[in-house]
Amino acid sequence: MMDGFAQHLSQTLDGIRDEGLFKSEMVIGSAQKGEVTVGGRTMVNLCANNYLGLANDPEVVEASVRALEKYGSGMASVRFICGTHELHKELERTVARYLEKDDAILFGSCFDANGGIFETLLGPEDAVISDTLNHASIIDGVRLSKARRYRFHTSDMDDLRLQLQAADDDGARFKLIVTDGVFSMDGYIARLPEICDLAEDYKAAVLIDECHATGHLGEKGRGTPALTGAGNRVDIISGTFGKTLGGAMGGFIAGPQPVVDLLRQRARPYLFSNALPPSVAAGAIKAIEIAEKADDRRATLDRHTKRFRSALADAGFDLLPGETPIIPVMLHDAVKAQGMARALQDKGVLVSAFSFPVVPKGKARIRTQMSAGLSDDNISFAIDAFIGAGKDLGII
Ligand SMILES: *Cc1c(COP(=O)(O)O)cnc(C)c1O
Repeated sequence: MMDGFAQHLSQTLDGIRDEGLFKSEMVIGSAQKGEVTVGGRTMVNLCANNYLGLANDPEVVEASVRALEKYGSGMASVRFICGTHELHKELERTVARYLEKDDAILFGSCFDANGGIFETLLGPEDAVISDTLNHASIIDGVRLSKARRYRFHTSDMDDLRLQLQAADDDGARFKLIVTDGVFSMDGYIARLPEICDLAEDYKAAVLIDECHATGHLGEKGRGTPALTGAGNRVDIISGTFGKTLGGAMGGFIAGPQPVVDLLRQRARPYLFSNALPPSVAAGAIKAIEIAEKADDRRATLDRHTKRFRSALADAGFDLLPGETPIIPVMLHDAVKAQGMARALQDKGVLVSAFSFPVVPKGKARIRTQMSAGLSDDNISFAIDAFIGAGKDLGII
């Protein structure tokens, strides 16, 4: 590579290190579960999106293995050429039924689902009104569309009303409000009933990203529409199979028939990217089947969430308020957050520090996530480690 270019990249990397923002990878040698091995050492894992513990569930694994043996490693085609397998259609029907929508369409990831939907549904005459805390994939997807863009402060309904009015004043043809159902970095739940009220007032459609909700929140794990009572007033749902629903990969959009049908014709990540392997689809179908009935797992998850949250709050940690299994421990300073993460790892608890650009500058944190795959002993161990590390570093 050209000398000057490589040197410039190295300097950028040095800058990232100097600011305490450098991200290194934890290399896991075991399956993803409550206790994982890192470099041969066993650690309690508090940073997977494995909320129901399905990533290593024997039934999910068995369903995947059976499909792998029967149908091979993959389709070697995009869906519309010769990459559509019976298991894709079954998974699409399963998602639509589970989320009580007309139909669903699969993507290689939810990043792709969010990347493809705005450009497909909205033209330059339309408006998208997006929560400022929305996931990077929504921000990128909105950027790719020609629709006018309006942003409202997180969960600020007065601001949402102002932005809807501004879109109307600007002559928008159609308006789409988009929000994360659960905000991944903060664990906040979107105010869906109020958002849907405003959507009705202003004749807007509502799209929510349910990556941190589907499978573990609300009745039967149907997510934030079920949890908040907004139900079917939410028009379109995007989600992932890479978190609660088995932890493998794949994304989806579920919604009204014309939305799904048009995505099948026009969504670029769907048209120009390989189909999901049938084995992944089979695992996801099984994961949904389990999630729907997993009140026991949801009860365990809830018990861990309440216990961990109150123990850390009592010990004097600064937590963001909330009720989801995402429990952010605020350190504010990026270097401090990294130091705390390292101290916890030394004590055998796997956590990850988040800093800019994943969260705003000055809001560095350790985002802990509970899982039904964790035991009560794992939670006790993690609480002791947090208190020990917090005292060692003078944080509490
Ligand atoms: C994880 C996540 C995504 C991306 O999902 P993938 O299937 O991993 O691409 C999108 N949106 C939100 C809110 C997420 O948390």
